Amino acid sequence: MPRPIEALIHTAALAHNLARARAAAPGARLWAVVKANAYGHGIERAYEGLRGADGFALLDLAEAERVRALGWRGPVLLLEGVFEPRDLETVSRLDLWHTVHCAEQIDWLAAHKTAAPQHVFLKMNSGMNRLGFRPASYRAAWVRLNALPQVAEIGLMTHFSDADGVHGIEAQLQAFRAATRDLPGERTVANSAAILRHHGAGGLLAGPDADDWVRAGIMSYGSAPDFPEHDAAHWQLMPAMTLRTRLIATQQLGRGDSVGYGSTFVAGQPMRIGIAACGYADGYPRHAPHGTPVLVDGVRTATVGRVSMDMLAVDLAPVPGARIGSEVTLWGRSGAPQAAAGSPILSIDEVARSAATIGYELMCALAQRVPARAVSQ
Ligand SMILES: *Cc1c(COP(=O)(O)O)cnc(C)c1O
Repeated sequence: MPRPIEALIHTAALAHNLARARAAAPGARLWAVVKANAYGHGIERAYEGLRGADGFALLDLAEAERVRALGWRGPVLLLEGVFEPRDLETVSRLDLWHTVHCAEQIDWLAAHKTAAPQHVFLKMNSGMNRLGFRPASYRAAWVRLNALPQVAEIGLMTHFSDADGVHGIEAQLQAFRAATRDLPGERTVANSAAILRHHGAGGLLAGPDADDWVRAGIMSYGSAPDFPEHDAAHWQLMPAMTLRTRLIATQQLGRGDSVGYGSTFVAGQPMRIGIAACGYADGYPRHAPHGTPVLVDGVRTATVGRVSMDMLAVDLAPVPGARIGSEVTLWGRSGAPQAAAGSPILSIDEVARSAATIGYELMCALAQRVPARAVSQ
């Protein structure tokens, strides 16, 4: 028998979350952002749930190839554009749209021989200072692109650094709008946090003109971009990934007994713990401290001591019936039936917070060795 750990990718949850993005930004077309192997979910596994999107956005040419291999004929956007001139041949072959964020990429396009002119999005650095032309040089870049026979259409794009937080998007949005006021082309500015927080009534992006395309990443996977201010339930998102395993041992501890490497936890009183077949080699964060939430047979409890490579310990006090084979949910949806409330959920955001990181990192870090499969529920 293989180790009992597995990851489930919930197709219906992906589709539900995309519908939430559409409802939040009505009128805009929707990119499902599937970079980083669909945030760790697996592009092929997530495809069924995400194919209702209008396009797929990603940044790796090999991932674009996989999306095309699935039969997707609609738009595919390279969020960082091409990395070297010959990537433009792949762009032509796969009919990809690509971001242009620097002068070198325009030089490469100008030298590219193509039969079919390309669809690009010109990126503005409106304040994040990663990629893009500054507002003052944006128009000149647009004029240059517009003169190229290699270019068919130019969309306008920027990315917010603080859509999820107190700084907000106002200054960046103002810079973007001022510099693009009289330029034609489709606009795309919003990531998940901007879709949820700023597209709604009264928001800075409310109304039909703000975004022709929105870019839904993390919300598609059921994690709240602004946790802990809001959680996934607040935004009506459903977890798209469950990481679950089973207990492979139990231990009865006496007062003074320690658990795991470094003996960092010492029992102050007799207690029963379970040993779950999941460790940092599965992608569970090693720095998740003692007390990180976990579900055993759908009942909320917590980790004990340090996370090892292949195992972690859990407190069985709230689950006296637990034994070898009991289900342990590290994040996502428990399989344990619970009459009225439905199956209990442990949000990946809560686990991430306990480990001083974000849901994005945990899902992207799901290890190769964990068998994963798509399920319809
Ligand atoms: C990753 C990414 C997104 C999606 O961001 P989320 O916060 O996951 O919604 C949108 N736009 C760009 C340019 C990105 O790189």
